[in-house]
Amino acid sequence: MKVFLETYGCQMNVADSELVASILTNTNFKIAENIDEADIIIFNTCSVRQHAEDRVIGRINNEMARKVKNKNLKIGVIGCMAQRLEEKLQEQNSSIDFIVGTDQYKKLPEIIFNLFENPEFCSETIVNNNEIYKDIYPIHKGRFNAFVTIMRGCNNFCSYCIVPYVRGRERSRPVDDVLNDVQKVGEMGFKDVTLLGQNVNSYNYQDVNFAELLRQTNKIKSIKRIRFITSHPKDLSDEVIKVMAESEKVCEHLHLAMQSGDNEILQRMNRGYTAEHFYNIVQKLRKAMPEIAITTDVIAGFPGETEEQFQHTFDLMKKIEFDYAFTFKYSPREGTKAAEFSNQILEETRLERLKQLINLQQDITTKKYKEQIGKTKEIYVEKVSKKSDDELSGKSRDFKITVFKGDKSLIGKFINVRITDAIGWTLKGEIENGK
Ligand code: SF4
Repeated sequence: MKVFLETYGCQMNVADSELVASILTNTNFKIAENIDEADIIIFNTCSVRQHAEDRVIGRINNEMARKVKNKNLKIGVIGCMAQRLEEKLQEQNSSIDFIVGTDQYKKLPEIIFNLFENPEFCSETIVNNNEIYKDIYPIHKGRFNAFVTIMRGCNNFCSYCIVPYVRGRERSRPVDDVLNDVQKVGEMGFKDVTLLGQNVNSYNYQDVNFAELLRQTNKIKSIKRIRFITSHPKDLSDEVIKVMAESEKVCEHLHLAMQSGDNEILQRMNRGYTAEHFYNIVQKLRKAMPEIAITTDVIAGFPGETEEQFQHTFDLMKKIEFDYAFTFKYSPREGTKAAEFSNQILEETRLERLKQLINLQQDITTKKYKEQIGKTKEIYVEKVSKKSDDELSGKSRDFKITVFKGDKSLIGKFINVRITDAIGWTLKGEIENGK
């Protein structure tokens, strides 16, 4: 039987789909590359914003039409929406056959087999705070960049965030499992590895902290680049910054979610740091690694945010000059503290503030990219460029897409490219010395 997996949301969900693909193929299912050939369609869903949920519900409803032609087709929902909404999802759409939460993926083969015997709706959403999917080796998609999950869940309860409710408490995978996975993906040809977790800086397994894990990962010969996501500013230690700077494989790129530049808002977000602390970390990172690219997430229009408080966020973004920022208008999530705050901001104000942040960041990103002209960057060549068959595209260590003329035989290799131009958020260049 063939399963088609459609994934929404963050890298954690992408990694979970790779895990689910492994669980299913180990029990004789096949992964369908095309939805038309599927006997089972699984939507791996995201709850982080209402918009994300609405989009998935629209997609599920659309695909239900397939059931008219193919009576045996089964459609299931897994991931954060499955965990958050549980049976409510099936009440909204009675054609959903199964709903499986983030800690119950090992049961998927049994659930699906049973459905073909006895087509009764099934739901498994119990949170298991010990589940780390030990000994399951994900099927990595792509060819060059692999995600390796180092921990699951989150203990932080930022007041706007649904994740701790749908992914349970923080638990770290054993060090040896992580290192073996990294070694293995490297041997398979993935030279760029991203260590993944909701808050990687609080990784802790039998007294091995994140800095030590990075140190040990850096010794693995089969890989060339290490990245990690997501970092929490309150837990990013000086030791981690030191290891980043000292470890040749750890790339000069960090995604560090600022969320707000105002201390009162940060406190009401339950973020555990101040704007000054955040700025201080940025300074330390830039001092330790002058070429580092720092990207961020920022929320506009958090409940109660005054014009002045918004201005603090705007000013801090301007002062820091992130290489890129993912900016969002606040989206209330039922079940979180912030959704209960009585001082919600009008939608039009949230949108207006968001627009201001987007415009500001566009200017900064353009400036940052122009500053790269004249530099030489090591590019991991990934593919032929979408725009021209003569051009190749790859990423620099500081995570910038770079396009240059070159032969297809260079795909998968590391090449030094001199940057000659910056068009939007793409760098253009020439292979150094024409080699
Ligand atoms: S650290 Fe905060 S924003 Fe990130 S997953 Fe945990 S609760 Fe959500």
